Amino acid sequence: MSVSAVAADRSVCAPLPVLGRDVLVPLVTGGEVDYAALDYAASAPALQRVWDDVAAYAPYYGSVHRGAGYLSQLSTDLFENSRRTIAEFLGCRIEGGPGEARSGKGGDGRREGDQVVFTRSTTDSLNLLAAVLPQDTRVFVFETEHHASLLPWEQRADLTVTYLNAPRTPEQAVATLEHALADREPYGPALVCVTGASNVTGELWPVRELAAAAHAHGARIVLDAAQLAPHHPVDLAELDVDWVAFSGHKLYAPFGAGVLAGRADWLQDADPYLAGGGASRKVSRRADGGVDVEWHTTAARHEAGSPNVIGAYAIASACKALTEAGFDTLVAREQELIARVRAGLAEVPEVRVLSLFGDDAPRVGVLSFVVDGWNSSHFAAALSAEYGIGVRDGLFCAHPLVRTLLGTDPQDPGECGAPDAAPGESSLNAIRVSFGAGT
Ligand code: PLP
Repeated sequence: MSVSAVAADRSVCAPLPVLGRDVLVPLVTGGEVDYAALDYAASAPALQRVWDDVAAYAPYYGSVHRGAGYLSQLSTDLFENSRRTIAEFLGCRIEGGPGEARSGKGGDGRREGDQVVFTRSTTDSLNLLAAVLPQDTRVFVFETEHHASLLPWEQRADLTVTYLNAPRTPEQAVATLEHALADREPYGPALVCVTGASNVTGELWPVRELAAAAHAHGARIVLDAAQLAPHHPVDLAELDVDWVAFSGHKLYAPFGAGVLAGRADWLQDADPYLAGGGASRKVSRRADGGVDVEWHTTAARHEAGSPNVIGAYAIASACKALTEAGFDTLVAREQELIARVRAGLAEVPEVRVLSLFGDDAPRVGVLSFVVDGWNSSHFAAALSAEYGIGVRDGLFCAHPLVRTLLGTDPQDPGECGAPDAAPGESSLNAIRVSFGAGT
């Protein structure tokens, strides 16, 4: 089959009705499918349920934690209930939250007092975590990470960052981490940052095993679940991770909010991420003319300013929709789609699918490839213009990983999403298709 024949095979790419469109209807389709949006890994269209919930609330919008009136009370309730829904979705325990009553969670005591902090995105969540780490924490991160989890740590001069080489198997990932943690000097606070599912290959990382290795060596671990959470259940206690970060807009809730959830202690001990109203409990003038501040010790400590109640509510709504649809159903459907896309691509000898852990590695609905003799950017533009298929091309904000996968120098600088090859030259970047619930 030729490249254009595969691209024209809309049955591989077109949104399918099987997931129960009454629950999960992609906003873009409007019933008829003219355009296949296969770029969910960048931003996923809102689920119909999310859209409906947000639209129903919008006329009642009011300030959160800042008013005695009906709209303010309603908005405050909605905001705090959203926090509880998300806590439950993530299997964490917040004071008075539903997660607290769940049996089998936090038996080791480490899950006590988890917090769900609303942020703008995964990037914001990981920058928040970087800001609250204790002085001189050592951070361990694979070079294969998305820039959101690769870059925040060096923003603080006192943190030492160890970049771990790209592993070629999940077992090698665990061994590499264990080795680095065991060798660390001095032995102090340490954080491992790892992705749950790659935004380039879609491959699943051995999160549980990496968490066990981290804890065995006295380190904590944060999970970048930006790509995992839309496709798989993420349960902090079950995975035994200390924090999880994800974005609403990749979880079918594109209203500008994200989440950092997990252990409260380092969050409570640190200065607020942003200083201002909402984070402060009491502010008074000192005799010397300065100002004394008593900061909240709840999630509000890091949520100064008027919060994004619509964003928070949208995430909670998406969590409910996904839970009701059932991840088993979603995963099964997605695996069918992956198999169809892979089978189509396999018929084209010029196509090479990118993979770190091998062709058969388990993955979510994210897949990148190059086409011999094609500039990836031109190929992606042609898919959109000629076939109505929206994909992404580039280096996907994971430059070292993509360069490793392409066999080019991982140390080369490159611009996010920049077309690197002239027409007819072999590609220096890649093409990504991605899909999810409602596809
Ligand atoms: N982590 C991963 C694995 C991602 O795929 C992305 C976005 O593509 C991010 C982090 C950053 O997410 P956001 O842009 O929502 O901050």
